[in-house]
Amino acid sequence: MMNLILIAAPGAGKGTLAKSLKEKYNYVHISTGDLLRDIVKSDDPLGAKIKDILEKGLLVDDELIYEILKKRLSESDCKNGVVLDGFPRNVSQAQKYDEIVKEVGLDLGKVILLDISEELLIKRITGRRLCPDCGAIYNIFNPEICPKEENKCDKCGGTLYQRSDDNEEALKTRYATYVEQTAPLINYYKEKGILSVVDGGMGIDETFEQVKGIIE
Ligand code: AMP
Repeated sequence: MMNLILIAAPGAGKGTLAKSLKEKYNYVHISTGDLLRDIVKSDDPLGAKIKDILEKGLLVDDELIYEILKKRLSESDCKNGVVLDGFPRNVSQAQKYDEIVKEVGLDLGKVILLDISEELLIKRITGRRLCPDCGAIYNIFNPEICPKEENKCDKCGGTLYQRSDDNEEALKTRYATYVEQTAPLINYYKEKGILSVVDGGMGIDETFEQVKGIIE
């Protein structure tokens, strides 16, 4: 299975797409944001520091990200194909990733840019609800993925929550960080000839169809 890197502004639908890819192709979904949120929830002394950075919408130190990512990529299931969601976030992370894949014996694979307008992001971010038990992602403004019962997970009955950085204030910083630091990756991967662009403003199924076309 070809490895994939998803690039998109916060709230564009990377997580939802990665979950669909995992279901259909058995990809290993690696979200550096999820790995960081796991550290925040644990009693690791780093948790409080990371929590503060996440809530401000800033980026966590590159070295820490490399450490947790390399650890996860070294696990044997990653040989079946990996979808990276939330990494790389800047050009130096992308350069480092070129080295990491060689070290752990994986292919760089393809890069998919989910292209979406800034206006749509606000709706996607403020409407996002998550299940703490099974990880399902909902959006109260999108009939395609609106929970049937308010605040309750359709799949497992868990009580849905909102991420503490999913508000307009943190989004401003997260979006500015994306434009300044992450968007330059588009050229980085275009020059390598491995970038495909998908319209992230469409429905979930349509987006997935386009991505399937790229993979198959
Ligand atoms: P996400 O779940 O991808 O939206 O990430 C949530 C937050 O985790 C981001 O706003 C950053 O603070 C942090 N984060 C996630 N991935 C990275 C990364 N590759 N480099 C630095 N910070 C990251």
